[in-house]
Amino acid sequence: MKNLVILGGGYGGMKILNELLPNHLPDDVKITLVDRVPYHCLKTEYYALAAGTISDKEIRVDFPVHDRLEVKYGEVIAVETSDRKVVMRDLEPIAYDELIIGLGCEDKYHDVPGADQFTYSIQSIEKSRLTYSVLNNLGPESVVGIVGAGLSGVELASELSESREDLNIKLFDRGQHILSSFPERLSKYVENWFEKNTVEIINNSNITKVEENVLYNHGEPIHCDVIVWTAGIQANKVVRNMDGEKDGMGRLVLTPLHHLPNDEHIFILGDCASLPHAPSAQLAEGQAEQIVEVLKRRWKGEQPPASFPQIKLKGILGSLGKKHGFGMMADRAITGRVARMLKTGILWMYKYHNG
Ligand SMILES: Cc1cc2nc3c(=O)[nH]c(=O)nc-3n(C[C@H](O)[C@H](O)[C@H](O)COP(=O)(O)OP(=O)(O)OC[C@H]3O[C@@H](n4cnc5c(N)ncnc54)[C@H](O)[C@@H]3O)c2cc1C
Repeated sequence: MKNLVILGGGYGGMKILNELLPNHLPDDVKITLVDRVPYHCLKTEYYALAAGTISDKEIRVDFPVHDRLEVKYGEVIAVETSDRKVVMRDLEPIAYDELIIGLGCEDKYHDVPGADQFTYSIQSIEKSRLTYSVLNNLGPESVVGIVGAGLSGVELASELSESREDLNIKLFDRGQHILSSFPERLSKYVENWFEKNTVEIINNSNITKVEENVLYNHGEPIHCDVIVWTAGIQANKVVRNMDGEKDGMGRLVLTPLHHLPNDEHIFILGDCASLPHAPSAQLAEGQAEQIVEVLKRRWKGEQPPASFPQIKLKGILGSLGKKHGFGMMADRAITGRVARMLKTGILWMYKYHNG
């Protein structure tokens, strides 16, 4: 039996499983899925988990069951490419014939002293739970500093402002306007929403240092009872520690068929892969479909295509609490209740299709 090992049961890993398991896995191939968490976690909802507006159970999806799927729970430490083995913490190494690495991303602190030590995170389920616990145990009128006003910072700030109206939320952002990757009209719509909902936006900020309960903006200390970091991401440490060319986010550079240039048996997926789009769940899924195509052809002894068309993305939607939202769909900006309803619908569909 050949062993296809998938590291990470996130959006990309799940898509691979859902494409292969029903009827595309040859009889002589088995799959080993490795994750530290015993279910697929809906990372796009971590902001709501941290804000305390959804329960932990609502964002879990069971891994599929199949007689040639083995699921191993544990911490991946490293990949030994010369021996074709995955090194695990406290477990035997796992040998692979084909390997797909989809371990997601981690916070990037841009060398700001103290940021890794004194800020909370929503980049993993474990860290989001911790953030939930500190945010929801705060007393009235406490100050929460959120650093970074991209999609996840904006979603957290808005959800928290609805969940805990008694808190003082400060959203720090480097740009002139928040959500710098969106059209200005959308940024202004979201800024107005924050103004109405008494979230303070601090534009043109430059966080130079973090200490316990203190953020330094341009060197000026600002007291915060809890600080959450949403100001950048980088590839998972396992990938950052691998040999090979990487981009500024530590993501491995790939061939057009999504494998390493010097090893056609190692595919890199989702937030770990250097792709010409911003990382997203949609992108991880689109890439997973193309990797499955390469594997299917390889297993049949056929030539894979020389390259694939660009992965088509449908757009991006963000929430502003439970009733409002914003986003870009088919290059059109949308705001308000419709955007929020679409986002809720997409989540519902995803959960429905994934069991
Ligand atoms: C608050 C927030 C909102 C977002 N909203 C959107 C959105 O609206 N739309 C969108 O498309 N994207 C959104 N994203 C981005 C999206 O969540 C990621 O791009 C997506 O999860 C990447 O999928 P992935 O398969 O690469 O990794 P992930 O889904 O992160 O999965 C990685 C898996 O690897 C496991 N893992 C990690 N390290 C180890 C280890 N060492 N050992 C064992 N297991 C490990 C994890 O447990 C996890 O199951 C959002 C992200 C955040 C944080």
